Formats: sequence, C-alpha cells, structure tokens
Amino acid sequence: MNSASNITNADLHCHSNVSDGLLTPAEVVRRACANGVDLLALTDHDELAGVAEARATASELGMRYVDGVEISVSWGKDTTVHVVALGIDPAHAQLVAGLQQVRSGRDQRAQMMAAELEKVGIRGAYEGALRFVGNPALVGRAHFARYIVESGHARDVKTVFDYWLAKGKPGYVAHVWATLAQAIGWIHAAGGMAVMAHPGRYRISNKELRQLLDEFKQLGGEGVEVVSGTHSADQIREFANIARSYGFFASRGSDFHGPGESWIDLGRMSALPDGLTPIWERL
Ligand code: AMP
Ligand code: MN
Ligand code: MN
Ligand code: MN
Repeated sequence: MNSASNITNADLHCHSNVSDGLLTPAEVVRRACANGVDLLALTDHDELAGVAEARATASELGMRYVDGVEISVSWGKDTTVHVVALGIDPAHAQLVAGLQQVRSGRDQRAQMMAAELEKVGIRGAYEGALRFVGNPALVGRAHFARYIVESGHARDVKTVFDYWLAKGKPGYVAHVWATLAQAIGWIHAAGGMAVMAHPGRYRISNKELRQLLDEFKQLGGEGVEVVSGTHSADQIREFANIARSYGFFASRGSDFHGPGESWIDLGRMSALPDGLTPIWERL
C-alpha cells in the first residue's frame, strides 16, 4: 500500500448484498467514501463476487481499496470463528476453490434450520430466507432473520438472533466450515494477510480465546481486529494488549451490513489505540 501513513480512516471489514449485506458493492463503496473512509476492503462472507465492482467504484472515486473476504471457520469442538482475508488475489485458484467448498453446505444447513424453525411455529422460512439473498448458495442466518422480521414474529433482526438463531436457540443448526489451517493456507496462497475477525464476539472462555489466538499465530495469522463495530471500549483495550503481546498487526473494521441493521456505519468506529502497527502499513 503506497502512502499508508496518510490513512486516517481505514474500514477493512464490511458486507454487500453479495453475501448478507443490504447494499450493492458500488453502494457500499460510495457510502464509505461519503463517510470519509480513505481505505476500504469489501469482505463478504465466503464469496468474492463483489470485489471487482467494489474495486472499480473505488477507482472512479479515487478512494484506496483492497480486495477482501470473510471466511467462516470451525474451531475446537463447536465454535465458529471468522477470519478476514485482506489483499488477496481474487482470481487465485486455491482460494476460489476453497471458498466454493465452504459455501457448499449452506443450502442444506438452511433446509435444516427451516425444519427446526417450523417446529417452533415459524413456517416457510427456507423459501422466505431465499427471497432475501441474491445467490442462494450464500443463504445464511441474516436472511432468515429478515424473513422472520418481515413475517411479524419479531421486531428486529437482533431480536430474531436472541430468540431463534444464536447458538443454543431453536433455529440454530451446527455446521462444519473450513478449518483454521485451510483458511489461512488459502489466504497466504492468494498473497493476502489473515486477520482474526471481531474476537470479542466469540462466546468462549479466556483460556479458549488464548488457545485460538495461539493456534492462529502458529499457523501464520498476521492480524487481529482490535477496533470492530461490535467491540466495546473495554474490548478495544483488551485486543490492543493482545495485538501487542502476540505481535499481531492491528486491523479496524465496521462489519457494516446495511443502514439500520448494523452496529455502526462505515468508517464511524473509534481510532486504533496508540502503540500498534496498523495492518494497512503492510498491505
Ligand atoms: P451465518 O454465516 O449464516 O452463520 O450468519 C452469520 C451472520 O449473522 C453474521 O455475519 C451477522 O451478519 C449475523 N449475525 C450473527 N449474530 C448476530 C446478532 N446477534 N445480531 C445480528 N446479526 C447477527
Ligand atoms: Mn454477516
Ligand atoms: Mn463475522
Ligand atoms: Mn462480517
């Protein structure tokens, strides 16, 4: 990345309607630019179909941009974690094939989720969720949540997760994603850097979090999201300390999914704490 030191508002984690966001890739890039973002990465779940449009739009606007993707990973006994890939070659065969494999189970999982939801009185959720996704292969919990809100069972998406879709709730179906080693391997093969996404969101003990980060480091993971739209001020301090002690590069991302449906808008997060090496200095 040229002139990385000039970057004051990097947002390296967000979604378009290619996965479970609400805006097109071009709309995401325009909104980021309007919000003052000066380096953006589009990081849809397990899919690269939006990055060409995002890159072209950023180039029209004269905004700096890197290609990204957020990979779903199964870790330990039954924990799902997310790894953000930054600066990857979106045409790299190994990465493309790996992501295709990760996506392949989503349809069957969605059918199982719908069967479970039916048992608690929510009907037609498979067909309903599919109406909210562009590519049916990418159907996920956010699309179910939108259908459940639309059909009047809940007032907003967050409530749907609390009652039905979070781990342990009736519509939650465990799923096997990529392994941590696979995800990092694909990212490195495609010339990118691997970042542990929103570590503050995983419902695991401190000991398990340490194990996760140890393993991630050992496998060559380079970065950790210190500032995330989903992190509290305390969590930002906690993960800044972790970045320093592990020698991780620090990343910053909103995890924006759409207006009215996100923790925070594009580029509106707090700054990285001092004493960290921003990952954009290495991209
Ligand atoms: P999936 O990959 O299908 O398991 O869906 C995960 C997605 O669900 C995340 O990327 C978020 O977009 C969304 N999500 C997960 N937990 C919540 C929550 N508590 N509130 C709102 N959205 C959530
Ligand atoms: Mn999402
Ligand atoms: Mn995530
Ligand atoms: Mn995300």
